[in-house]
Amino acid sequence: MSVSPEEHIIYLDHAATTPMLPEARDAMICWMGRNVGNPSSLHSAGREARKAVADARDSVASLIGATSCKEVIFTSGGTESDNMAILGMIPYMKSNGKDTVLVSSVEHHAILNLRDTLEKSGIEMKYIPVNHECVVDLEVLREKLETNRVGLVSVMLANNEVGTIQDLSAISELAHKYGAFVHTDAVQAVGHMNVDVQTLNVDMLSLSGHKIGASDGVGALYVKLDLQKYLQPLINGGGQEFGMRAGTENVAAIVGLGVVANQIKRNINHNLLHYNSLRDAFLQALYELSALTQENACYANHLPNIVSLSIPGVMAESILLLMDADNVCLSAGSACSAGNLEPSHVLTAMGMTTEQAVGTIRVSFGLTNTKEEVVRAAELLVKNIERIQSMYNEGKKVDES
Ligand code: PLP
Repeated sequence: MSVSPEEHIIYLDHAATTPMLPEARDAMICWMGRNVGNPSSLHSAGREARKAVADARDSVASLIGATSCKEVIFTSGGTESDNMAILGMIPYMKSNGKDTVLVSSVEHHAILNLRDTLEKSGIEMKYIPVNHECVVDLEVLREKLETNRVGLVSVMLANNEVGTIQDLSAISELAHKYGAFVHTDAVQAVGHMNVDVQTLNVDMLSLSGHKIGASDGVGALYVKLDLQKYLQPLINGGGQEFGMRAGTENVAAIVGLGVVANQIKRNINHNLLHYNSLRDAFLQALYELSALTQENACYANHLPNIVSLSIPGVMAESILLLMDADNVCLSAGSACSAGNLEPSHVLTAMGMTTEQAVGTIRVSFGLTNTKEEVVRAAELLVKNIERIQSMYNEGKKVDES
C-alpha cells in the first residue's frame, strides 16, 4: 500500500498483510544501520548478532508459552514453517508405519499443496470436514485416527478467510490418544487471540512476521523439544537454528519479530478490545444501513479482527474494485487466491453454493484502524452494493425488453 499525502486509504486487508509496528521498523532500521555481524562468527560483532537473535527467540518463546527458547526455530515465514512441519515428519512417519497426514479441509494452501509431495513418499493427505461455521468435525477426526495410520494431524488455529477458531486442545487430546503428533498453523491467530502452546497441547505451531507487524520474510516454527529428534530439516547447510534450519539468519527481521512479540505480549488484551470495538462499529453501521449482507461464521468462536460477509447476487471482485476506487482495501477470500475466479475452498467446504462463495468478501481490521474508518467503509460498502445491484437490475430489464 502506498499512500500519497492527499489521499487517505482505509486499509482493511490486514489478514493479507499488516503494516509494520513502528517500534519493530525502528529496531530493524537501527540494526541494519549499526550492525554487521554474522551470528555464527566468534568475534564481538558476531556475538552481538547472536545475542540479538537469542533475545528475539526468548521473546517469541515467551509469547507462545514455549518451555524452552530452543523450541523456536526462525524461518522465512508461515509457508516455510508449514512446509517444515509437514514434510519434515515424512522420515519419522515412514519408519513408524504411519502413512497418513490428516488436515482440515480449510487449511491454507501452504498445507494443502503439500499433498503431491507427500504422495511421492507414500504418505496420503486425508481431510477432516468442517460444518457451516467452519468448525472441524471431531467425530470424523476420531474415526480417521482409529485406523492407527495417522502420524500427524494439522489443523489451523484460526481460519484466514472467515476467522473461525478451532478447539485445538480437544483435537490434540484426541490425536495424542492415537499416537499422532499435532501441528497447528497459527499464522492468523497469533496477535489476535491468546496463543499458548501448553494450553493448546500442540507439538508444532507456525507463525508469520508480516501478519502481526514484523517484516515480510520472517516467521517461526515452534517444535516441542521431544519432537525435535524426529523432525528432518527442509534446508540443509550450516548448523544454524539448532541444526534444524540452515542458512545465515535474517537478523534484522528476527530482531523486528522479537520486538513485535514483546509488544503483543504486553498489549494483547488492549488490542483485542480494539479489534472488538472496530468489528462492532463496522457491523452495526452495516446493518443499520442495509439488510443485504450476511456475516459468515458469526455463531462460532472466531477472531475479532476478521469479518466475512456474503452478499447475495453480487460478485465479490466487483465490490472490491469499486471499494478500491473509493480508497478502501478489502479482499475476496485469502490474498493467495485473489485473482483466482474459482470459489474459495474454505467457503465451499463450509457448504456454500458457488454463488454465495463468489459473493463473499473479507474485511480484516488492524491496530491502526479507527472507528471512523470502519464506519466510513461500511457506508461505502452499502453504496457500492446498491450501485452494483441497480446495474444488474438495469441489465435484466434490457435483456427482458
Ligand atoms: N497460513 C495462513 C493461515 C495464512 O493466512 C498464510 C498467509 O496468508 C500463510 C499460512 C502463509 O504465510 P506467509 O505469507 O508468511 O508465507
